[in-house]
Amino acid sequence: LGTNPDSAHISHFRQDLYYGVLISGFFITLAIVIWYFAMRSIRQWHTALDSTRRDLAQRITEKDMVERELQRWILEVESSQDAAMKAKVAAEKASHAKSDFLANMSHEIRTPMNGILGMTQLLLNTPLNAEQRGWADIVRRSGEHLLDIINDILDFSKIEAGKMVLEPINFDLHSTLSEVSDVVILRTQEKGLELLVEFTPGTPRYLIGDPGRLKQIILNLVGNAVKFTTKGHVLIRVAAMPEADKQVRLFFEIEDTGIGIPADKLDYVFDKFTQAEESTTRKFGGTGLGLAISRELTTMMQGKIGVRSVLGKGSVFHFDILLCEGAPEASHNLIPDCNLEYVRVLLVNDYVPAAMIAHDIMLQAGMRCSIAPSAESMLDALKEAEAAHDPYKFVIFDDHLGQEKVLQYASQIRKQDTHGIIMTLLTTPTRVPSREQMTQASIAGYQHKPCFPEMLLGMMRVLLTAQKKGEAVPLVSRHTLMKLMRGETEAKVSEKAMFKDCRVLVVDDLKVNQMLMAKVLTDLGCTVDKAANGKEALSLMARLTYDIVFMDCQMPEMDGFEATRAVRNNEAGKDRQTIIVALTADAMSGDREKCLAAGMDDYINKPFKLEQIVDVLKKWCGASLQIAETA
Ligand code: ADP
Repeated sequence: LGTNPDSAHISHFRQDLYYGVLISGFFITLAIVIWYFAMRSIRQWHTALDSTRRDLAQRITEKDMVERELQRWILEVESSQDAAMKAKVAAEKASHAKSDFLANMSHEIRTPMNGILGMTQLLLNTPLNAEQRGWADIVRRSGEHLLDIINDILDFSKIEAGKMVLEPINFDLHSTLSEVSDVVILRTQEKGLELLVEFTPGTPRYLIGDPGRLKQIILNLVGNAVKFTTKGHVLIRVAAMPEADKQVRLFFEIEDTGIGIPADKLDYVFDKFTQAEESTTRKFGGTGLGLAISRELTTMMQGKIGVRSVLGKGSVFHFDILLCEGAPEASHNLIPDCNLEYVRVLLVNDYVPAAMIAHDIMLQAGMRCSIAPSAESMLDALKEAEAAHDPYKFVIFDDHLGQEKVLQYASQIRKQDTHGIIMTLLTTPTRVPSREQMTQASIAGYQHKPCFPEMLLGMMRVLLTAQKKGEAVPLVSRHTLMKLMRGETEAKVSEKAMFKDCRVLVVDDLKVNQMLMAKVLTDLGCTVDKAANGKEALSLMARLTYDIVFMDCQMPEMDGFEATRAVRNNEAGKDRQTIIVALTADAMSGDREKCLAAGMDDYINKPFKLEQIVDVLKKWCGASLQIAETA
């Protein structure tokens, strides 16, 4: 069969047309779909764009509003800043006014207090009957109490004004604690309390810090402990931990067996003007400032203060401070270096916490020590030692047993003793038996409580050395030991003889202060002249040479600063400089610096204590005088 070419061609053409139409249809449909979707997207974009535009417009409006608000705030802040600046200036002015007021108030209060306390002291040194002495003593004590309160208020204000500064010096921790015990011992004795001091082994004795402020913290805590305790003891415990760069952290605990503090009050007692119980406030008195001041001072010394307490059982206040290691002052200690190791000691004391402290001191020195808490146990211990051919070398009595009993036991031991037992006594400073009583009872030495290791061991070394050498020594007292520690051997000279060549000028505008100083100084043997202001002082100093000038600071006509500057100008180029000691009622920070900057050599605050005057005389006039001590 043959194929027709035309029909094949037509069939091809049809086929092509068919595919052409199909493809075109496909593309047209595709184009329509794309167009449709494109149009839809464009519409959507358009709508989105529209809403974005609206959004943007709204935000722009909002931004404008915020900017306006901001502008308003800026204006407000600027005006508040202005107000704050004004308030700051006003507050600074008020703070200055408060400081000035405090400085003035301190001066105004201290000046009459100086008269009251000084004159009362002089009165107490005169013959008085018992009743008069009692009244004068009340005036003195009330005055001292008032002064404590004023000092607290002043200190707190100083701290608040940021004017409290620490004055670090090299100091002896034992002397600081001994001064604390001197202040409170009378009160502890009146209340029948034991005052104890315990040094944990390794506690350094010489440190660099502000001993005055440290003493203030301890005194606040010990004062409270005594105030809130009626039975038992007040114990000061010290421990130390070395830190980097020759620093040392000291830890103090002041433990009492008093009324304790309720648990819910423990957190508040350090707040200013806070007392644990309203009722205790009335019963015990106080300002509620002591602990607040102590907390501030501890913080200044890079430490913390806290308390634990059991109601009805007692409290333990604890604090730590950071100090630097110090060095002992050069001394010529004459206490014999006698080895106490293995020496046998019997402590006779019925108050166990106190006996334990003395016991630890003995153990640290390598001695063999036992405690007898009663007369029977004492006699038993002595008998046992005798039977074992290992007798005690020392018997150390504590007057907690009762003074009479101690003297009686000592006499009893002496009668039976064949080994030369050395007997000594630890006694409350105000209850020391007479020399005759002690000598009769064969007591060879005594020390004041609380007993410090160096004193107790020093006494034992002196007595043991004397016994070994077969020397008889007079009763070894605290005073004997202190002298030996200072390397003094000269015969005693009274202070009166000591200052007899001392010519002193007292410059003060207040007659009562002039009188008081003149009396104190003439009693010490000095020759005294008086001047009522700087001008009078200068004219006297132009004619006479003074060993020392006590200069008040605030005086009419010419004050102490101006007078001192004039003296120093006159002395320019000369070898000799007159010693000028400021004697002032100003106690705010910076006053000491002001005095020293004006050319003064030293500074004593009014109201002063007799010992301060003696110390200053010894310090500045001592070299030319004989070093001496009264008994
Ligand atoms: P105050 O002058 O009242 O003693 P402080 O700040 O020294 O002020 O003490 C605040 C309060 O803390 C005291 O009033 C007392 O309630 C309580 N307190 C302080 N020490 C003791 C303590 N050793 N035993 C019991 N309570 C204490």
